[in-house]
Amino acid sequence: MKGTVRVRFAPSPTGFLHIGGLRTALYNYLFARHHEGKFILRIEDTDQSRYVENAEQDILDSLAWCGIEVDEGPQKPGDFGPYRQSERKEIYHKYAQQLIENGHAYYAFDTTEELDQMRERLQKSGNPSPKYDAITRQSMKNSLTLPQDEVQKRLEAGDEYVVRLKVPRRETIRFEDLIRGHVSFESKGLDDQVLLKSDGMPTYHLANVVDDHLMQVSHVIRGEEWLSSTPKHVLLYQAFRWDLPEMAHLPLIMSPSGGKLSKRKAESEGIPINAKNYIEQHYEPEAVVNFLAYLGWSPGDDSEIHSMQSLCNLFTLDRVSKGGAVFNHKKLLWYNEHYLREQPDHQLAGRMKELAENPKIKKADNEFLANIAGLLKERVSKIDEVISMGEFFFEDPQQYDEKALKKWKDDSPGLVAEYKENIEALTEESFKAANLKEHLQNVISKNDVGFGKLMMPLRIAVTGQGFGPDLFVSMELLGKETVLRRIDTALEKLG
Ligand code: GLU
Repeated sequence: MKGTVRVRFAPSPTGFLHIGGLRTALYNYLFARHHEGKFILRIEDTDQSRYVENAEQDILDSLAWCGIEVDEGPQKPGDFGPYRQSERKEIYHKYAQQLIENGHAYYAFDTTEELDQMRERLQKSGNPSPKYDAITRQSMKNSLTLPQDEVQKRLEAGDEYVVRLKVPRRETIRFEDLIRGHVSFESKGLDDQVLLKSDGMPTYHLANVVDDHLMQVSHVIRGEEWLSSTPKHVLLYQAFRWDLPEMAHLPLIMSPSGGKLSKRKAESEGIPINAKNYIEQHYEPEAVVNFLAYLGWSPGDDSEIHSMQSLCNLFTLDRVSKGGAVFNHKKLLWYNEHYLREQPDHQLAGRMKELAENPKIKKADNEFLANIAGLLKERVSKIDEVISMGEFFFEDPQQYDEKALKKWKDDSPGLVAEYKENIEALTEESFKAANLKEHLQNVISKNDVGFGKLMMPLRIAVTGQGFGPDLFVSMELLGKETVLRRIDTALEKLG
């Protein structure tokens, strides 16, 4: 297959790219790279009523953020363009015409009212799901029932029409799916699909099949929600006498509470649903890629951490699962922690400066920030939390966390004051975590109290919080002057 693989990601720009779409793009990309083939981006924008401005840009941004590189697409024209379906209208007309000529499609002139009447009539006579099919088409207004010259007259007069596929009455449509194996559908459940709409635009089915053929797509890899469209596509390939590409339908992404992960479900379960959310919430792209790769696929061993390059080497469709893949948010955060901690502290310092709103962080000394990043990255899941948790390095506490204050007891001021006296004797150079800890131990053993008796109030005084990174390292980073000042303020305010 080397070199001959051509796959496409074919989103419709109808809103923000969601996580399922991003996974489809990723699997196509991994498959293309694995086989040294091409990854095509095709924008399926034929449904003008659902078109959303900026959606294409959102798709491009999301792919770029993940490191998914497009080989051919609207921004990177190859030999098979244009890559936006709205720019290929004439092509679809030509092929619809071809189907009409060879008897696989026909013009239909029925008005909305006539279609409604047909459905009503059939429902009344006991048909629960009326269709425009091999039976009903015979009593409708189309080029199969109307005299030839009337059809011609209507076309010349510019009457509205659609082009429909002549779906065979009774046929079992079979195909092999690389993930699901043998699949079959009965044609009698299918409508005579509209191929060309009255606005002159093709429907998804026609445009998708024509383009996959013309763009020489070798493998169609897409979400399971498209499986029921495939028999219609198979009929179209047959009608054109074209070879069907290899088909692979990816498992659905499921919500942890069961059922398909819908937008509503995701929202109620705190799961970011759009690719854009992951960018805005400062996830690490490597983590999202690694996580998504495992959402429906695994390399078959117990390894979990893989870079994009390594995923490209490992990815094969036979290891994609059939069953739904449950979205495990904890696992995503676990990946995020991994890729966050892996980054050098200096790099994180640079990113903190970029992300922070606090001007003091923006202007902070790089070395200082790198030390903070090194200290905090072990305790958080995402980089924005490094910033929020690190805020106390830049601001004296304005108030003290209420819950933490419960640990400020009657004996706290005395203990904290005694500790302060002890560390006051330290020089700037000896104001080090180990010494600061030793002094604390001295004070608690002298007073015969537990560690927390001093540790907690001290933490509250210095950071304003009841939890946080190693207190002694934090105090060392803050420096003598700041620590003493904060202790004084706390003793004054809290008594
Ligand atoms: N335009 C369809 C979508 O929005 C493409 C489905 C397919 O890959 O065939 O996902």
